[in-house]
Amino acid sequence: MYARHLGSTPQTEALPGQIANSAGGFSFAVDDWTRLDRFLILGSEGGSYYAAERKLTIDNAACVERCVALEGLRTVARIVEVSDSGRAPKNEPALMALAIAAKRGNTETRRAAFAALPRVARIGTHLFHFAEYVKALGGWGRATTRAFSEWYLSMDPSRLALQAIKYQQRDGWSHRDLLRKAHPKTDDATRNAILRWMVKGWDGIGTVPHEDPVLVKIWAFERAKVTTDRKELIRLISDYDLPHECVPSEAKGDPAVWEAMLPSMGQTAMIRNLGKMTAVGLLKPLSASVRAVVDQLGDVAAMKRARIHPLSLLVALKTYQQGHGDKGSLAWAPVASIVDALDAGFYSAFKAVEPTGKRHLLALDVSGSMGSTAIAGMAGITPRIGSAAMALVTANVEESHAFMGFSHQLVPLAISPRQRLDDAVRAISNIPFGATDCGLPMAWAEKNKIPVDVFCVYTDNETYAGSIHPVQALQSYRQKTGIGAKLVVVGMVANEFTIADPADAGMLDVAGFDTAAPAVISDFARG
Ligand code: CA
Repeated sequence: MYARHLGSTPQTEALPGQIANSAGGFSFAVDDWTRLDRFLILGSEGGSYYAAERKLTIDNAACVERCVALEGLRTVARIVEVSDSGRAPKNEPALMALAIAAKRGNTETRRAAFAALPRVARIGTHLFHFAEYVKALGGWGRATTRAFSEWYLSMDPSRLALQAIKYQQRDGWSHRDLLRKAHPKTDDATRNAILRWMVKGWDGIGTVPHEDPVLVKIWAFERAKVTTDRKELIRLISDYDLPHECVPSEAKGDPAVWEAMLPSMGQTAMIRNLGKMTAVGLLKPLSASVRAVVDQLGDVAAMKRARIHPLSLLVALKTYQQGHGDKGSLAWAPVASIVDALDAGFYSAFKAVEPTGKRHLLALDVSGSMGSTAIAGMAGITPRIGSAAMALVTANVEESHAFMGFSHQLVPLAISPRQRLDDAVRAISNIPFGATDCGLPMAWAEKNKIPVDVFCVYTDNETYAGSIHPVQALQSYRQKTGIGAKLVVVGMVANEFTIADPADAGMLDVAGFDTAAPAVISDFARG
C-alpha cells in the first residue's frame, strides 16, 4: 500500500533538484543561458502575474550579470544574435543586456559590447535607450564616449540623415545631448553638416533644394515644416521619401498625404498605420493602395529584413480587425484582404519549418496566471493568447496534432489551424480561469491511451495543483505506453522556472515567441 507514495509526488513537495516557484509549488530552475533567452525574447515589461515589473527586471538583470561574469563574449554574441536577427518582439531587453555587458564585463567583454553597439542600437531611439541604461549603470567613461562617437561616425550618411529627421529625441535624450557628450570628429563635409544640424539646426533654409543629395533630405524636412501649400508638401514627401514622423500632424487627415508616403514607408510604420490609412479613406477595398499593402505584407524577405516580428503582426491583426484603436477615437471599416494578409504574414514571420510527421499534443495552460499582463508589453497579448498563437504555428505545420487546454482540470479548446488567428484568440479568451496543474496533459494522454510523440506545454511553469509532478507524469506515460515521448516547455514568462527536468535529454525549454522556437521544436521532435 506504500506504492502509491512512490513515483508520484504532489506538486507542493519538491523533487530532488527543484526550487519553490511563485505559486506555492515546486519547479526546476532553468539555467542562466535559457533564462537569458527568455528575457531577451519575452522581456519583463509589465511584470508577471506573480512578480512586479521592477522585481522581474532586477532578477533578469542579475541573470545577465551572471552570464557576463561566466562567459562575457558568449553573452554579447547571444545578445547580438537575438537582436540583429529579429528573433525578439522588442529590442529593449537586448539594449539593457548590452549595457550591462558594456559596463560590468571584463576588458574584452566591454570592448566587444561597445563594438556591437551599432548592430544592437540600429536607430536613434535605440541609442537613446542605451544612453539611459548606461547612465543607470554608473555613467560615461572614455570607452562609452568613444562608442557613441563611433555610432555617429560609422553610419552611412544617408541613413544618418534619416535618423536625424526621424527620431530627434526620446525618453529625455536627444541627438544634441549625445553629440555634446560624445563630440565625434570628422573631415567629411556632409557628415559634419548632418551633425551640425542635429546640434544647432541650420540658418537660412530657403525654397531652393540643397545641392547635396544626402543633405537635401534634411532640407525637405525643414521645408515641410513651414510650407502651407498642400501640393508642395505632397511633392516634398514623394520626391524626398519623407517618413511620417516628418509630416505635420495637421496634414495627416489627408488621404493624398498618406498616398504619397506609402511607397517609401517602412513595413513597421505601414503596419502601425493601417487603421489610420483606412480611416482617412486611402485603404479601400479593391484599391491600388490596398494591393500595395497586401503585396508588402506578403513579401517574406522584405518583412524579415525589416525585422517584423510575428507578435507585432498579431497585435496589428487584433487591432485592425476590431475597427478601432485601443486608445483615442479613431475608427475604421477593416478591409478583409488586409486582415487576411496580416494573418498569413504572422505565420511566415517564423523561421520556416518542415513537418516531422510526429504526433504533437499542444497543451495550453489556461490557468488564471496566464491571463494577466502582456508578453513583451504588447497590448492585449496575454501569455494565454500568445500560447494559442504559438501553438497554431506548430499546428499549421504538423498535420498530426491535437489541442488541449488545462488548468487544474481539462478544458475543451475549440481552436484549429483552419481558423483565422483573431477567431482563435477570441475562442481562447472566453475560457474560464482555474488553478494550475502542468502534469495534466501527460496524465490525460496516459489515461485515454492517446499516442503522443511530443508534448508541447505552453505555460509560465507556475504549477502547484497536481498530485503528481509533470516529469513523473511523463515518466509514467513513457512506461505505460512504451512511447519515448518528449516534452517541450514553451515558456511564456521570463521567470526562472521550468517543469522540464534539465537532466532528461528528452525535455527541452524554448522561449515562447522566439521566431526560431517552432523550428527548434521541430528539430528536437525529429531527434
Ligand atoms: Ca497558473
